[in-house]
Amino acid sequence: MSKATHFPWNYFVRTIRTRIILIVLTSLSTYIICQNPDDYLFSKILLIIFSFIIISFIQGYLRIIPFRKTLEKIQDIQNQLPSNKKLSLIYQENEWVLIQEMLKLTQTYIKEQSGQIHAYEKKSHLIIESIADPLVLLDTHLSCKQYNQAFQKKFIKDKIIKVTNVEKIWKVFDDNEIISLFEKAKKMGEIARLYGHPIDQEFFNISITPITNDSDKITGLLGLFHNVTQSKLTEKLRVDFVANISHEIRTPLTSIKGFSQFLLAQKNSLPINIQSPLERIVSNTERLQDLFDNLLKLSIIESKYGVEKELFDLGKLVSSIHKNLKVSYPKRDITFKDLTHQRPIFGDKKLLEQVFTNLMDNSIKYNSNKETRIEISVEQIFNRDRVTFTDNGQGIQEADINRIFERFYRVHSYEQKMIDGTGLGLSIVKHIINKHNGQIKVESEIGKGTKFIIELPSM
Ligand code: ADP
Repeated sequence: MSKATHFPWNYFVRTIRTRIILIVLTSLSTYIICQNPDDYLFSKILLIIFSFIIISFIQGYLRIIPFRKTLEKIQDIQNQLPSNKKLSLIYQENEWVLIQEMLKLTQTYIKEQSGQIHAYEKKSHLIIESIADPLVLLDTHLSCKQYNQAFQKKFIKDKIIKVTNVEKIWKVFDDNEIISLFEKAKKMGEIARLYGHPIDQEFFNISITPITNDSDKITGLLGLFHNVTQSKLTEKLRVDFVANISHEIRTPLTSIKGFSQFLLAQKNSLPINIQSPLERIVSNTERLQDLFDNLLKLSIIESKYGVEKELFDLGKLVSSIHKNLKVSYPKRDITFKDLTHQRPIFGDKKLLEQVFTNLMDNSIKYNSNKETRIEISVEQIFNRDRVTFTDNGQGIQEADINRIFERFYRVHSYEQKMIDGTGLGLSIVKHIINKHNGQIKVESEIGKGTKFIIELPSM
């Protein structure tokens, strides 16, 4: 709120001064000119002078009112000025000089400010141009306000777009997914991303960042298009390579396994010293098959740019995994606690099926109890779904907990000596959770069991 201004005496006196002098002079001259002045006339003239003076005062005061308002405005502006500028205004001899000084000051201040704005614009232009990736700045109506050369070359090319900066973004991109991404960033007020999105036979990681002012109101959007065509192609080559290698190796492996199983089926007719090596050939071929399967899975997950999320019932998914695992572990009792009435979770169903298959497989493998007990619960913590997966297995030593997500890491213990594995299962789990922008933590107690806590962004 502005402070009340002082009464502008100077202006007031100036306003009524001339009038009062004129009134007094006129009355005196009338008095002198009158031929027979008497007491009666003199008192009449005095009364007239007095009334005129009062009227002048009232008139003067009425003229002060709009002037005071102007002074109040000036005081407001004065308060907003930096303190070094304000000082020169404090001791001014009268209101008019104050107004003059104020106007001068405001003029220089505006000049300084527009100079600064110009410098900022130049700087931001330089920054925008120095970014090699295509970049575009939009206002909240999705009109292009500014873009760099890279954006111009890549997306505008010969499209008719006015540099008057009023063209809408949908004139540049004829792609609903990109337009919805801009709209999503504007609506949610947070960065929206698309990974490996195809545009004109190239692939881009697109991120749209809302720009906000001091009061957190969105004033524009910044779109950055990072070209990932090359890395996507390299990635594809790598996946194809691993897929081909795995395929090429799996084919002879299957036949080795088939023949050795065939021989093993007739083990009674084979010499005793051949039976045991034959059994080892079968189990090692199975291990190799597992290894190549897992390598292939890991490679595919790594090469994935995004995940296709949906809401699904974790209880149903776990029950179907259970049915599959029952085939691999026909002699094991596997029981679940609390699978129904869980809240649905939001994620890539196929990938998360792999996560829970690996976790359950481990819970059964690394468990010496007659009955494998698994407990799964889902709860929402802020904007994340927390899935807690607990088993009653043999547990993991503190020193190993930090390493179990590393590729090929296996715990070397006496109990585990006979258990087959590739050391890739939890690595796959971690990669999938990372792809969801989630987190995984482990708590374990030897002899009691292990708890995996997974947090995923909820819908
Ligand atoms: P793999 O099971 O093929 O050895 P993983 O990456 O799945 O590879 O697991 C890494 C190690 O973590 C395992 O060797 C095992 O010692 C330990 N581990 C994983 N899950 C559990 C579990 N539920 N209980 C006890 N130990 C586990």
